[in-house]
Amino acid sequence: MRPPNARYLILIFLSFSYFSLAQAETYALIADRLIDGKSNDALQNKAVIVSGTQITAITDITRIPKDAIRVNLPGTTLMPGMINAHEHPLLYKSDYQNAHLQGSSAYKALLGLSNLQRLLKAGWTTIRVMGDGDVYYANQDIRKAIDAGIFIGPRLTGAAHYISITGGGGDINYFSPEQKVLADGLIADGPEEIRKAIRKEIKYGSDWIKIMVTGAFMSVGDNPRNVSFSPEELSAAVEEASRQNIPVAAHAHATAGINQAVIAGARSIEHGSYLNEESIALMVEHQTYYVPTITVGDYYANSGKLLAQSKNDDFYLSFRDDWLVMIGKAHQAGVKIAVGSDLCGYAVESQVCAREFATLVEAGLSPMDAIKAGTSVGAELLQWDDRIGSIEVNKLADIIAVPGNPLLDMSALEKPVFVMKNGQIIINILENYSAINN
Ligand SMILES: [Zn+2]
Repeated sequence: MRPPNARYLILIFLSFSYFSLAQAETYALIADRLIDGKSNDALQNKAVIVSGTQITAITDITRIPKDAIRVNLPGTTLMPGMINAHEHPLLYKSDYQNAHLQGSSAYKALLGLSNLQRLLKAGWTTIRVMGDGDVYYANQDIRKAIDAGIFIGPRLTGAAHYISITGGGGDINYFSPEQKVLADGLIADGPEEIRKAIRKEIKYGSDWIKIMVTGAFMSVGDNPRNVSFSPEELSAAVEEASRQNIPVAAHAHATAGINQAVIAGARSIEHGSYLNEESIALMVEHQTYYVPTITVGDYYANSGKLLAQSKNDDFYLSFRDDWLVMIGKAHQAGVKIAVGSDLCGYAVESQVCAREFATLVEAGLSPMDAIKAGTSVGAELLQWDDRIGSIEVNKLADIIAVPGNPLLDMSALEKPVFVMKNGQIIINILENYSAINN
């Protein structure tokens, strides 16, 4: 065997040195203003210094380290990467309960990965999956592949399935009794079946439990004003999950369902369409997070896109105004509200998800509080506030830049021009750069 020639060795040496240099890259991100996700005002004349995966300094723009690569983002605002606390990445058609029966888990994984990459490019650096239209565990596999560095994608956490009663919002109710279809949800009745469903969820990688406490709007044959699980079943769910240090997210529309889930110890209430003063008081007392997901109802109302639409439109539009008033009251009372879009499966253009920020402002949150709901408060809900959700020294560098000033125009959040996750530049539209080709 001939020894490798010197030229070849130099090439190997150079590529290794380039690789190690690339790992230690230091960037200085420079925009017109900085929203750090914690402060009540935007900061001026600051540069964010990123080394490797972390934010290492926030300095005056006159004090940028000489070795830093300057990323100039004129006309934009820097802010933390957005956190979507309620999403279903695998849903690939609006009519998800029908689509669920048509696509294999593998097909959903492929479309889901592509969808998650689009969401990352749209500024969503972290996504909590709230159960999905898949009998298997495609989201958990996608997360594994992203964490292993095989594909670029957002940080993922969440539940593989929604746990539902027979005939509830996670079941499929439009076939004849002779047809044995596998529902997208995990069907569990009684405390013992619920415990077993939770154990299975955790076994295969869910780090949240999602439970359908009431009926749903967008599934056929169940009623969002009805309560599905009994208090005994809810307590069993929270007790089982808590013993394994897994939080519970409760889908709940009906007032009694919201209140029972809060009392049982759910960490978050999803939707909460019929919350009342008592619900708000209970959520304050139990420090329950609230993820209203307003935009999805607006998007589908009168669209004719859903099989369940006939029960949705009048129903939804009749309470929307009152609901938004209650969301504002909950915020005033101190309930921590997080952004969740519940909308951005493959069929929906990913920019639409960020409209949730504007609807929270419509409900009475200040623009800055709405931005916190989708950044630092979302991180607290996920119990990841030690690493993401704000632009602070030692946090992971999940940072976006949006055009203009989002405090004056929330639609800026729908079109980020720069996205960085974990210190890696994902897109920089100003330089026509994208790390993802789809
Ligand atoms: Zn949902």
